[in-house]
Amino acid sequence: MLKDIIKKSYIIQKPIRYIYSSIPDYIRYGSTFRETYNFLKQSEKWDEKKLKEYQLKELQKLIYHSYETVPYYNKLFNEVRIKPKDIQDFNDIKKIPYLTKEIIRNNLEDLISNKYDKNKLKYVTTGGSTGVPMGFYVDKLYDKPREWAFITSMWSRIGYDVNKVNRNVILRGNIPYKGVYEYKNRDLILSSFKLTEENMHVYIDLMEKFNPDFIRAYPSAIHMLCKYILNNNIKPKMKNLKAIICASENLYNFQRKEIEEAFGVRVYSFYGHSEHACIGGECENTGLYHLQSEYGYSEIINETGQDAVEEDEIGELVATGFGNYAMPFIRYRTNDMVVNTNKICNCGRHYKVIKKVEGRQQEYFLDKNGEKVIFTWADYPLWEYKDMIWAYQYIQNEPGQVILNIELKKGVEINSKDFKNIKKIFLDYYTDFDIEILLVKSIQRTKRGKFKYLVQNLNI
Ligand SMILES: [Zn+2]
Repeated sequence: MLKDIIKKSYIIQKPIRYIYSSIPDYIRYGSTFRETYNFLKQSEKWDEKKLKEYQLKELQKLIYHSYETVPYYNKLFNEVRIKPKDIQDFNDIKKIPYLTKEIIRNNLEDLISNKYDKNKLKYVTTGGSTGVPMGFYVDKLYDKPREWAFITSMWSRIGYDVNKVNRNVILRGNIPYKGVYEYKNRDLILSSFKLTEENMHVYIDLMEKFNPDFIRAYPSAIHMLCKYILNNNIKPKMKNLKAIICASENLYNFQRKEIEEAFGVRVYSFYGHSEHACIGGECENTGLYHLQSEYGYSEIINETGQDAVEEDEIGELVATGFGNYAMPFIRYRTNDMVVNTNKICNCGRHYKVIKKVEGRQQEYFLDKNGEKVIFTWADYPLWEYKDMIWAYQYIQNEPGQVILNIELKKGVEINSKDFKNIKKIFLDYYTDFDIEILLVKSIQRTKRGKFKYLVQNLNI
């Protein structure tokens, strides 16, 4: 790839970097990108039957490859007495036991296909937000351009053009060398660690001068900036801005609403994970999420181990990725909970749709009876105080007990009556709980710069 050539020569790096940054994705990312992107532009028009046929064929190919070349799967298939030819339809897939993070950690070497040289593979690690971090291998030459083709084809629904240079502001987990910001290729990278109240105007100035086409952000980070914008009645001037693209965290409805209000453009959310077994993006028409059938095969499994088929039924996403032949993930338990829907999207695409990604499994409280309670409503008790609160974070260490840490804005005071009120509203929603409210100086981010609304220390 062009990028590898550039990396090798430092003398020509700077001018070439400049030229390189002005090359559109369609040329820049090479033939795998172009083939995948062009294919996706065709396959999004396929009917359901054709998509299903494609998926079954890809599944069978992957299963055959795994049985023949991956020691872990060879052993597993023999243990449960199945042969690749036994997989004839989507029901047969259920004969294959799940792959869990635990299994991957314990069988890392045996999960590599013997068709690949381990030294030429890229080792990827996932964040530890759902427990212990996990590592695995991918074929780097294939993985990145393919992934980027899927992502940009979803973004093309909101105006991202792979044939031109799109200017992006990035407010994610990066740590810019200038502390708050840096320019890299054609992007303005902002730190999500320095979003203090005093810095907010610096961020807004930098963004306005840069005039981006898109802002790509962690919802929690961009939302902090939006709160400042709305509270101070600022009207950011970015005439080319088309959308705010959010990923990597839950996007709550209140965040979406305020981000759209602050910037006056739509928020576009998509779902992906480092394991690259499933990808999904919002539909520009309905806001439902399309899980891309060409990327992998997804199942939504409810608590009893059955497919979640009811409207609004929540289940865990179990994914089989078609892209990683170096280390196949078959029926991988993502730990991500999604909301099923039986609605059919009116956009003409026939992918599986889900209502939303409900969140990592850890994004629940556990009540006094040990029952899981969705965390999403925990924002409501703070609603009437949102102008006073800079940030907050719930912590749960014991079932039925939560700690709420509140960081107030500078110069703001809160009294015991307000505390009582917050407590009362919280307990209206979460009846089987006790809550302790604490004022803190600052609320910590994760190592990757994410801001967590809930630190769940219980094993859910
Ligand atoms: Zn749609």
